[in-house]
Formats: sequence, C-alpha cells, structure tokens
Amino acid sequence: MRINPEDYHVVFNKPYLTGKEALYIEQAAKRWGHLSGNGKYTRLCQRFFEERYGFRRCLLTTSCTDALEMAALLLNIQPGDEVIMPSYTFVSTANAFVLRGAKIIFVDSQPWHPNMDAHSIEALITPRTKAIVVVHYAGMANDMKTILQIAGRHGLYVVEDAAQAIDSYHKEGNRRLPLGSLGHLAAFSFHETKNIIAGEGGMLVINAPSMEARAEILWEKGTNRSAFFRGEVDKYNWVDVGSSFLPSEIIAAFLYAQLEHLEAIQQRRLNLWNYYYQGLKPLAEAGFIDLPTIPAYATNNAHMFYIVCRSLEERSRLIDYLKRHGILAVFHYQPLHDSPFYREKHDGRPLPNCRRFADCLLRLPLFYELTHTQQDYIIATIEAFYRPQKGKKP
Ligand SMILES: *Cc1c(COP(=O)(O)O)cnc(C)c1O
Repeated sequence: MRINPEDYHVVFNKPYLTGKEALYIEQAAKRWGHLSGNGKYTRLCQRFFEERYGFRRCLLTTSCTDALEMAALLLNIQPGDEVIMPSYTFVSTANAFVLRGAKIIFVDSQPWHPNMDAHSIEALITPRTKAIVVVHYAGMANDMKTILQIAGRHGLYVVEDAAQAIDSYHKEGNRRLPLGSLGHLAAFSFHETKNIIAGEGGMLVINAPSMEARAEILWEKGTNRSAFFRGEVDKYNWVDVGSSFLPSEIIAAFLYAQLEHLEAIQQRRLNLWNYYYQGLKPLAEAGFIDLPTIPAYATNNAHMFYIVCRSLEERSRLIDYLKRHGILAVFHYQPLHDSPFYREKHDGRPLPNCRRFADCLLRLPLFYELTHTQQDYIIATIEAFYRPQKGKKP
C-alpha cells in the first residue's frame, strides 16, 4: 500500500524555523550588502562556536561532506594511505578519503551502540595507517579516551565526523569536553535533517594549530585571500590547492538565526526524546525491542530516537504497519564495507554488529514541532504491533 507524504499523520522530519531566518538574509543583502562568503554572518556563526565550545578555529562550509573533504586534504592523504572508520556511517565519511586515494579499513559497531568498537582499532593499524575517523552516531560520543590513546601511541591523526553531534559532550570523571574539540579536525553538518539547520551547510573545526593557516587557504580556493583582507599580505595569490568550500552569506544568515535558538531547540528535542524513552520502556522490558544505550562517557543531544527490532523481517513489518497508520519511520545506513562500491575492496572481515544495526535499527519521527499527542499515538501504534491484544487499537 502506498501513501502520499501528505497523507501521513506524522511525517519523519519537519524543518523548524525560528522566525528570524528571512530577516537576517534580508539584512545580509540590504544592510550589509554582502552575499558571497566570509562576511558578517559567517564570522558571527564561526565565533558562536569558537566561544561557546572553545573550538580553536571554525570555518563554515557548504556541507559536512565538504568539511570532510577539506580534512582529507589537510591531512595530505595520498593514494594507498589507510584510514580507519566505522562501517555503520554515512557515505561521505568514507568518500572524502576515497577521493584522495585512501584505502578504508572498516571497523565493526559496538554490540550495544552503532558507534565503532574502539577496542578493535589497534589490531587494524599498519605502517600505512594515517588517520582514524570517529563518528559520534546519534550525537553520542564514541570512546574518545581509548581512541585518543591509540592514536597517540601510533602517531595517527583523529578526525571527528561530528555531523550529528552539535552540543554534545564526552565525559571523563567530572570533565566534560564538547564533541568536535577532541580530534585534530572535526566536521559538523547543518543539513535540514540535523538539530540546527541551514538547508545544506557544514563546518570544519581546526583544533590542531599547525593546520589553521592552510585550512583557510584551502577554504578560499587555494589563495591567501583571508590573510590579504586582514592586511597580513599586500596582494593575494594562488598559493596551494583548494576549492570553493565556503557558503554564501545567505546560508550563514539563516544558520545564525538557528544558532540563537540553540538552547530552546535542544531542550525541546531532549524532552521529546525522553518522552519516547519512557513510553517505550515497557516494550523494551518485555523484550520486544531494544532502546538506545547512552554510554557512561557520552551525553545525549537528542539528535535521533531509534529502537532496535529483533530482525530485519520484523522491522520491515513494523515499518509497514506504521505506514498504514500514517506514521513515517525509517531505517538508516547500509554497511559501507558491504556496499556495491566497496564490497570487493573490503578485506572480508564480517562486521556482525554493524549488520545488526543496518537490519534492525528504526528511527522514529523527532522534530521540534512534534507533539506529545503525536508521540502517544506513535507509541500506542508500536504497542499494538507487538501486543495486539493488550495495546489499544489506534
Ligand atoms: C549528515 C551526515 C553527514 C553529511 O552531512 P552533509 O552536511 O549532508 O554533507 C556526514 N556524516 C554523518 C555521520 C552524517 O550524519
């Protein structure tokens, strides 16, 4: 049975507007007269992150994909270099490095979390290994203490794919460090499916001081234009490779309106996340589904609410059942190590935990304007699927 998106009672995602986006875009044009990149709103957004999270240097990009591509250039990844990363991630995490000729060494997920298993990394390191790329899935930190120790021992770079991880932290004792501040480099996304949006948009965080100057040059199409505008050089020139990684002020103005509401957005999403968790707990306790596990070293930024079903077949039936009741719930990544593009290049290790999350994980609608009434309906529908007698027919 097919349903048009308009027929859903509950869509999967709905972009939230804070109300100031159009005004700031208009101001960029009329008041500041600057619509190309690296203007007032770009600097406001970058400063917001640098001040709030202590990131050393931030550069807005047109996407997280672009920020990851910049990271691969900054690390001077060469053909044959090996890069270690989870298989359970978005294709851009790998593509950015494959574009430079890297060989990707995929790591399995943890049994209880889609994040990669930090303890299986060390056995995969060879003399060709250049970097570890960490993904903080669902905005929950990976085990950064273990990963940074391994990287330190072997002289490897660490890049955080923090696309989903805005306003989330890594905890160690009573120390809390923001995700995006732990690797040499980190990449964020402001795609419309993330907590804070700009349609398409992203940001590179440069924590390693030695990479800062070059990052600016790559960002400005291989020129020292930024240094020129600061008056540090008397003309600007082609000095390195680069590309057009910087977004227009239209994107930055939109993003700044969102950032002003970061706290309200985060609070609302956390409230919705906890409401799902409490509502679905009885089903988890009865053994029908698994709920997300937040590791002791992680915080939850409510980027995503997912459940884990018992099999692929059961998940497919649940998706269908929800669809018939007007609810759009969606699965997530297919394992990259077993993708049509990479299957032949992978070293053949089976990655069973990754496979389980690919087959069994199901994401529920989660967006600012979702209501508890809608959540009650979603929870009751899932109840009715698993316990047709007990759950009330929605
Ligand atoms: C969303 C996402 C990306 C890509 O972000 P874009 O801004 O769309 O390029 C990369 N990695 C992960 C883990 C993501 O969730």
